[in-house]
Amino acid sequence: MQLYRLVYYSEAIDGLSLQDVKSIAEKASVKNASLFISGGLLYCEGKFLQVLEGGIHPVNKLFATILQDKRHKNINLIEFARVKRRAFEGWEMSLVFFPTSRDFQPEYIKYSGDLSFDPLSLDGDSCVEFLRNLLERKRTVLSSR
Ligand code: FAD
Repeated sequence: MQLYRLVYYSEAIDGLSLQDVKSIAEKASVKNASLFISGGLLYCEGKFLQVLEGGIHPVNKLFATILQDKRHKNINLIEFARVKRRAFEGWEMSLVFFPTSRDFQPEYIKYSGDLSFDPLSLDGDSCVEFLRNLLERKRTVLSSR
């Protein structure tokens, strides 16, 4: 199977709660597993940054569904590209939540010259590495408890 990666940015609609976002991610991880899609979802300051990776048809179909979802708006495709390997192997859809972008400034500044959190200023590779680093950091924090 040829592997594809899709990266997009969007904004939550007003009134979407963290519980709503958690529920989206929980259901997503079940559906994504059945589609052999891996990836990650960052939610911070009402902004989403998501990476989806898998076969061309499942990823396209899922993105078409996500585009229709009324729980977010201003959806911008950052990258859709063929890749050699998965960056999120074993992660069907891991949600990483930070209340404020100040919490990840040390990671973010590595990829962006600017401190203000604006995923649209990053290229696809930077988004993927940044999100992976955040997921790794969360995993380390969780496993060291
Ligand atoms: P249904 O749940 O019947 O969805 C039918 C339609 O209604 C779809 O267009 C759906 O987007 C929309 N919809 C569903 N629930 C609501 C609601 N409460 N309010 C408004 N519209 C709704 N799903 C995944 O499977 N994998 C993902 O990685 C994933 N990532 C997401 C990221 C974001 C930022 C958001 C907002 C949603 C994401 N979703 C994801 C959810 C996705 O949009 C669909 O709701 C989900 O895939 C189920 O769609 P369905 O067509 O199978 O069924």
